[in-house]
Parts: sequence; structure tokens; C-alpha cells
Amino acid sequence: MTCIFCKIIDGSIPSKKIFENHELIAFHDAHPVDKVHFLITPKKHIENLIACSEIDKDIISNMLLLAPKLAKELGLKGFRTMINSGVEGGQEVFHMHFHVYGGGSKLVKI
Ligand code: 5GP
Ligand code: ZN
Repeated sequence: MTCIFCKIIDGSIPSKKIFENHELIAFHDAHPVDKVHFLITPKKHIENLIACSEIDKDIISNMLLLAPKLAKELGLKGFRTMINSGVEGGQEVFHMHFHVYGGGSKLVKI
């Protein structure tokens, strides 16, 4: 197994974990782009949104619903969510994850 995030999920690579249940985990990004920057990822290895299908709809909605809960716990009043999909979408780790970040002052509007 070569997937970094599968190794984080099975504990063989350490991470600063924020949340875990039977389906999802969340942990701080190793290279934060903001004061708070964490990732939410499913335990099931799905490459990205492009590889998702109808059977993954509960996972996707639960990932999104978890974002505001964890952001609030980490003191954020607002946050950004980013999902990179595919090489041309800037994805580097091919295990689907949602970036959640905020808390700093360097908000660049897109
Ligand atoms: P992507 O570009 O695929 O959307 O984002 C991958 C993210 O994973 C990057 O922000 C990167 O900093 C983070 N990352 C890569 N390897 C590790 C790791 O081993 N531990 C943690 N906590 N984050 C990682
Ligand atoms: Zn994986």
C-alpha cells in the first residue's frame, strides 16, 4: 500500500488527528496555508470526486457536514473549503480529502 492517507488512517504514519469515526477522519494539514488548516477524508480509499459515484453520496455529505462542526471546535467563525480533483485540479494526494482552512488575515478572494 503506497497511499499516504491510507497510512495515516491505519496509524502507520502519525498525524495530528482532530476527529475519527467509523467512516471519516480529520487531521491538521502538514503544510498549513492558514492559521487553521485541516483535512477531512473518508476511511474508504476513493481517489477523488471524479472517481465518486452515487454509492458515495453519504460519505460526501457527511464530509461536508463535518467541516463546520470541526471548524467551530477549532475556533473558526468562518472558513474556506477546497477540493482538488485530478492532476489538472492541483491534486497531489490521490485519496479524496476536503481542505478546510481559515483564521488568518490573508484572505484572497476568488
Ligand atoms: P492536495 O494537493 O492533494 O489537495 O492536498 C494534499 C495535502 O496533503 C497538502 O496540503 C499537503 O500539505 C498534505 N499532506 C501531504 N502529506 C501529508 C502528511 O503526511 N501528513 C499531513 N498531515 N498532511 C499531508
Ligand atoms: Zn488511500
